[in-house]
Amino acid sequence: MDLKKVVEGLPETEELFLQDSYLREADARIVKAVREKGKRYYLVLDKTIFHPLAGGQPTDKGLLEGDGLKFEVKKALKTGKHVVLYGKAVEGLPSESMEVTQRIDWERRYLIMRLHTAGHVLDRAVSELIGQQVHTLGAFHGPPDAYVEYDVLNVNLKELERMANEILDDREVVIRYVSWRELDKVIYGAPNLGRLPPAEVYRVVDIRGINAIPCTGTHVRRTSEIRRIRVREVERVEGGYRLHYWVD
Ligand SMILES: [Zn+2]
Repeated sequence: MDLKKVVEGLPETEELFLQDSYLREADARIVKAVREKGKRYYLVLDKTIFHPLAGGQPTDKGLLEGDGLKFEVKKALKTGKHVVLYGKAVEGLPSESMEVTQRIDWERRYLIMRLHTAGHVLDRAVSELIGQQVHTLGAFHGPPDAYVEYDVLNVNLKELERMANEILDDREVVIRYVSWRELDKVIYGAPNLGRLPPAEVYRVVDIRGINAIPCTGTHVRRTSEIRRIRVREVERVEGGYRLHYWVD
């Protein structure tokens, strides 16, 4: 399916998860419904709590309900300024202008939030041990296997795990929106800004005292919610190393 065609002419999707990561439920209106085959559809809502696969964060899953409709959301996809939900109707059929209640699989999302914030903490722990700012090549902050890829990673894994949990603490995580001109003053400990796409406003995730990084992901409010970071193993990948990790 050509997602660009699906969203053509629609106003941009309001991404409610950017304002509040803890929203598990919200009302919305279906603004576009495109049938793939059978009961499978691509849907666009006017506003959504479903975080799409983007920025190293996996898709949310969940449910839409309304007016005889029960729709299983299998994945959320990002295209330009829109989020498209793909899934299957288990009761009734979706239609345009239908009002629905959206509910995300909260257990999965909360785990992803803990993993994502833990990933930022690991960036700091790795830089701290190596003695210089490392660069990330890629990341996946979700089940079943979370990882971050770094250009250099000549560290002892036990020491890395100890360092990550030591700096974890109970720090506040603050979200801020800044312009390109202010970005320099606000960010610190941020890897590879050269890769940052141009934008008028950047969303910065500041884990107090750890780092402040441009990121569109959903994070926990306090680092104590992560509980404990577990470093699993390191794997060689092209151009660097993949560090597998988890939260307990
Ligand atoms: Zn991030």
